[in-house]
Amino acid sequence: MKLAVIEGDGVGREVIPAALQVLDCFDLPIEKIPLELGLGKWEKTGQAITDADIEILEDCDCILFGAVTTPADPNYKSVLLTIRRELDLYANIRPLKPIKGIKGATGNTDFDILVVRENTEGLYSSIEEVGENEAWSKRIITRRASERIAQVACEYAARRANHLTIVHKSNVIKADSLFLNTCRDVAHTHNVIHDAMLVDAMAYDMVRSPEKYDVVVAPNLYGDILSDLGGALVGSLGLLPSANIGEKQAFFEPVHGSAPDIAGRGVANPIAAVLSVAMLLDWLNRPEQARIVREAVETSVNENIKTADLGGNSTTAEVTEFLVYYVQSNS
Ligand code: ATP
Ligand code: MG
Repeated sequence: MKLAVIEGDGVGREVIPAALQVLDCFDLPIEKIPLELGLGKWEKTGQAITDADIEILEDCDCILFGAVTTPADPNYKSVLLTIRRELDLYANIRPLKPIKGIKGATGNTDFDILVVRENTEGLYSSIEEVGENEAWSKRIITRRASERIAQVACEYAARRANHLTIVHKSNVIKADSLFLNTCRDVAHTHNVIHDAMLVDAMAYDMVRSPEKYDVVVAPNLYGDILSDLGGALVGSLGLLPSANIGEKQAFFEPVHGSAPDIAGRGVANPIAAVLSVAMLLDWLNRPEQARIVREAVETSVNENIKTADLGGNSTTAEVTEFLVYYVQSNS
């Protein structure tokens, strides 16, 4: 089993080593392949990601990724977009689940949402032009991509509360009706109870009544925005893990970015990256080990070993040390 490890930039260089320490508590047959990508590489070599890097990634079974800083420079090719597209990692899975002992922005801790974000098209088509007085981005919705993301969402729904919410804005953006109707058809075929929400109403309702939702499927940009909103509901962006899944490969990363405002100070919350390792363990069919990692995270919070984003004063290293200790003593 080959695991590519990309720390990237900023806090990626702090939270990925922490997550690896937790993964290393289990004696798994994993060959780690470190790869440097991102702004740091771009500054050194003029390229953030090369064709050779893609070939290495194609040869791996899965990838653990930190974060990369994306400068506004039009010559800079987005590393994440490139990887998602080249490896066709079409389903972005983002669980929004409170951690016992942490109250998010609204105080509501009674919800368990799974955002399933379409990861290959929509406004992220990269077909765009920026002129002096006019700029545009082409928003693409295809039946094929809508169908396969809906299938993934329905498979998750069937294992959970069997309720799918389809997010769209088809009253104004007509292309969304293809997404909506395709998702409805797939949900119907899978016998999944489904409803639809306009994305603006969804943002409002997710804040007011997050307990109403189970699996939420959304086109690319809406899914991105709603999952950051979910970060506030759960309590911190530093808590949210994610998986990007393709036919054969999977890519695990914290939802947060490179957090340049806190990078290099040793205070980043490692939990989002550590929970991404738990998702990796699930994907490797090791649910018991994934469970222990999640239990370690919950215990660290209960023991008040928390980073500043959670109101604590522990460092990344202190939280990690506790997680490693817990996992080692319980596995
Ligand atoms: P990028 O452009 O790489 O996405 P960003 O400026 O959007 O960077 P994010 O990483 O998305 O920054 O972070 C948004 C906010 O959340 C920042 O204030 C950041 O400090 C905070 N944050 C993000 N990740 C963590 C973490 N692991 N621990 C603590 N705070 C975090
Ligand atoms: Mg960001």
